[in-house]
Amino acid sequence: MKLNESGLLIVISGPSGVGKGTVRKALFELEGHDLEYSVSMTTRPPRSYEVEAEDYYFVSESEFKRRIEADAFLEWAEFVGHYYGTPLDKVQEKLAMGKEVVLEIEVEGALQVRKRMPEAVFIFIAPPNKDALYRRLQRRGTETADTIERRVVKAEREFPLAHKYDYIVVNDEVMNAADRVLAIIRAEHAKTERAIYKYNALMGIHQDEDE
Ligand code: 5GP
Repeated sequence: MKLNESGLLIVISGPSGVGKGTVRKALFELEGHDLEYSVSMTTRPPRSYEVEAEDYYFVSESEFKRRIEADAFLEWAEFVGHYYGTPLDKVQEKLAMGKEVVLEIEVEGALQVRKRMPEAVFIFIAPPNKDALYRRLQRRGTETADTIERRVVKAEREFPLAHKYDYIVVNDEVMNAADRVLAIIRAEHAKTERAIYKYNALMGIHQDEDE
């Protein structure tokens, strides 16, 4: 498939506690875009403020495993005792309609997407420094000490993987980070490899693929 014949898949990822969920929410509050969020599926119990089908599709472990068997996920990962995955059919549908689809997922899942859909745009959200991330994890208040410790250990393993992404956005201030993500998405649309087919069609240029 030629790149500009389908939509754009944007993967926002990074270590736990970096604030990628907050950056993603801020991104959706910005004006002037038509992004669609891909709601993930998880076996984690809902937090008190979470809404089914808006924050996640909450399912049982057996249901999740059934879907793994049915190859129904673009990617999935086990994260601190629970499963998380991106429903494949919904992403495919939206991309086929030419939409811009945003995933907000942890690092292992992002690397699976990189293999399966290398044309996607991969953005690593980084903390301003390590202490900021640890403070954030501790402040969150929704997790037990054991879960926080496991998330810290996982984050330590994920810091060195930033080089596998197309962009690194430091989450120093949430709105700044969201602005930078939107700027990246806009720039990606103008990339020659994405824009050339439309440009050639407009200009009546018939270019050989390997010219
Ligand atoms: P939380 O339990 O805090 O909502 O999410 C835990 C981690 O799972 C976060 O890093 C979040 O980005 C990630 N996550 C959410 N949905 C998915 C998904 O569909 N796939 C993967 N691989 N990670 C996800």
